[in-house]
Amino acid sequence: MTQRRKLIAGNWKMNGLKAQLTEVSAIDALAAGRGDVDVALFVPATLIAAAAPLAPHMVIGGQDCHQAESGAYTGNVSAAMLVEAGARGTIVGHSERRAYQHESSADVAAKAAQAHKHGLQVVLCVGETLETREQGDDIAHAFVSDQLVASLPEGADPAWLVIAYEPVWAIGTGKVATPAQVAAMHKALRATLIKMLGEPAGNAMRILYGGSVSGDNAADLLHTDNVDGALVGGASLSAAKFAPIIAAA
Ligand code: PEP
Repeated sequence: MTQRRKLIAGNWKMNGLKAQLTEVSAIDALAAGRGDVDVALFVPATLIAAAAPLAPHMVIGGQDCHQAESGAYTGNVSAAMLVEAGARGTIVGHSERRAYQHESSADVAAKAAQAHKHGLQVVLCVGETLETREQGDDIAHAFVSDQLVASLPEGADPAWLVIAYEPVWAIGTGKVATPAQVAAMHKALRATLIKMLGEPAGNAMRILYGGSVSGDNAADLLHTDNVDGALVGGASLSAAKFAPIIAAA
């Protein structure tokens, strides 16, 4: 059986000022105590330069990067800018960006490729809405698998790319997918990855679960088949809430 090292990643979204850097240091101390688990923290772009030196035991990353090298894209951040600020990774394709910034899967694939070109680790998010989930499990599996195929960049490789399955209906809602729902979706995504990338790459690529993960549900979710870690929003904002999730991995 393929052994995949677990990754616990936090996404601070549009939260965090310099006053919260004490949490970065505290989370890094948690990461230092778990040498057998990878930890990453995706902070607002404005905090990367200050957070990176405080976090030698984990990856500090951004939450998006533009697919272009540079240019007239007001308000966007390039992969080179993330790297210069001290980031070692980035999220791409988060459902909030797909919804509010109208990012397509083709955009997401281009962003992932651009991030990799600059040496960043990439967490690529996919997930279905409640409307799709309510059409039945098979339809949800097909929808997310198709989204994954369309979002995967050329040359996708487990050395630098991680998938995060995040059902939109479970993000920030307190509604968690059941371990059975997660196992079934991750099995479908594993099959898709093997079909796309072949063995062993498809088997080695990590698939995280995200959506209202907390200290209360982390152990069950993290010990579900094909769940290789978690992408955590709200519960990653403080070391106290993030600690039991890292401990459960
Ligand atoms: C997320 O931001 O990716 C997320 C999963 O958020 P939350 O854990 O708050 O649901």
